[in-house]
Amino acid sequence: MTNSRIKATLFDGRDLFYFDDERSALPKTRTADQREPGERPQTAQLRFDPLTREWITVASHRQQRVFLPPAHSCPLCPTTQTNLSELPDNFDVAVFENKGPAFGPATGDIDYPGNPFGFATTSFGRCEVVVFSPEHQGSLGNMPVERVETVIGAWMDRTKELMAIDGVIQVFPFENRGEEIGVTLHHPHGQIYSYPFVTPRTQLLLESVKAHGKSFFDDLIAFESSSERVVLESEHFIAFVPFAARWPIEVHALPKRNIQDLSELTPSEQKDLAVFYKRLLQGIDRVYPTPTPYISAWHQAPKIENRDWIRLMLQITSPRRGEDKLKYLAGSEAAMGAFVGDVAPEVTAQRLREVI
Ligand SMILES: [Zn+2]
Repeated sequence: MTNSRIKATLFDGRDLFYFDDERSALPKTRTADQREPGERPQTAQLRFDPLTREWITVASHRQQRVFLPPAHSCPLCPTTQTNLSELPDNFDVAVFENKGPAFGPATGDIDYPGNPFGFATTSFGRCEVVVFSPEHQGSLGNMPVERVETVIGAWMDRTKELMAIDGVIQVFPFENRGEEIGVTLHHPHGQIYSYPFVTPRTQLLLESVKAHGKSFFDDLIAFESSSERVVLESEHFIAFVPFAARWPIEVHALPKRNIQDLSELTPSEQKDLAVFYKRLLQGIDRVYPTPTPYISAWHQAPKIENRDWIRLMLQITSPRRGEDKLKYLAGSEAAMGAFVGDVAPEVTAQRLREVI
């Protein structure tokens, strides 16, 4: 079930959506953006890497982003007389198009290179920001279950609409949490990237699934669910530390039913996921006395043939390997893509089970 949604437009033509909690007391109409009309930046460039056959976005306008602004000038707090922010009115959860996106605002199909050297095209697609709360401080894991449900409802709504855009191949909702991960705004928020191609990570997954067969995800769940790495199970979802975890903290979660993305959740699955996801995030924050930086990534099936072979999958990872120690991607990982794990996945799972 998607929560009630109000659509608005920002000063430069970008879309803004308000998603209210089920029992929200907020009005059904909202104040318009008071800023002077403006122009949107040019769409970034997409360059083809002939070595890996991957796409690299060159978005130099992103260098000018605001960096960790205080609450009185935060672009994600509701607008005040002295701070005309990106949110013209109060909200529970709000989603708007990114001001300086890595993909879009132009949309369409990308070209593919004949000659792999020096090939560039337009970085079509769309990037959105999902603001979890009007409060400047806080974290999604500590918000009421009802709010987490609204955030999931927003992801569901956006996944469905973004997948319908011409040229969008894959939709990726995610949250970077913590300065250590490179967050430039403290205000609790996530993002949604809509790519004009299948991402490299998903490309590899597709090959693994193809090699194993259609039963890949059922077999994966059967394998992991009978292991000592399970950390949480609900009626509709199961979470575990994967057999070959790369990060000091790494949790994967799958729906038991074969669905391809968040837009396919039933109302009871959405409610179940809200409780389940909140417990996972809270647990990760309880591993150490202070909040843990993490990346929470919703892997969703791209627009491809045999799309139903790919299941929705959540992957939460953190580079934190001690109270004040982070794992950095050094030679083997960054240069070769060959990970060396510092903690046995079974040990991570046991630690997480104690705090979830
Ligand atoms: Zn703020």
